[in-house]
Amino acid sequence: MADWVFDGGRVSIDLVNTLRDRKTGGTELLTSTAAVGEWLRHAGLAARAEVAEADLVRIRALREAVDRILRTPEGSRPSTEDVGLINKVAAAVPPVAPQLRYDRDNKPRLRSAAVADPVKNALAIIAVDAIEAVIASVVLRICAADDCGLRFADTSPKRNRQWCSMARCGNRAKARKHYARSKGT
Ligand SMILES: [Zn+2]
Repeated sequence: MADWVFDGGRVSIDLVNTLRDRKTGGTELLTSTAAVGEWLRHAGLAARAEVAEADLVRIRALREAVDRILRTPEGSRPSTEDVGLINKVAAAVPPVAPQLRYDRDNKPRLRSAAVADPVKNALAIIAVDAIEAVIASVVLRICAADDCGLRFADTSPKRNRQWCSMARCGNRAKARKHYARSKGT
């Protein structure tokens, strides 16, 4: 099982993070149709999806378009191809959002809705989420760790969040700083 992370704050950014270690060449986690199916399940977008080879190509293309569009600086315009791709995927089906479910532990979870084409539906949900993120001027940040590259929506009050997560990179940075300090004295 891949080491999925869902710290992006939005499903479209979580998809972008399925290409890990972007600062150091990139590690592909969507390596097969089975991996895509697994990610869609973990993301709460499709419980049991028949993922075709064409879907694997499509979801990676969508992922890179989302990344480029969300990283486009304010005042600039992303490429017509990227905007066209996102619009096309979003328009493929009117997406049916996942449903709210409570398990025995009383924790709220998302359960994918029953639809005719779960993969198409999931990709449309992601594309719509990306469009909403652009319109809402979501601040996309890249984790400050040199060897990370994970993206996240910065919703901190001062828009100064540095780490993809405190547990993953924040504590590592703190430990390094502490080590450097203790070595210096
Ligand atoms: Zn990180």
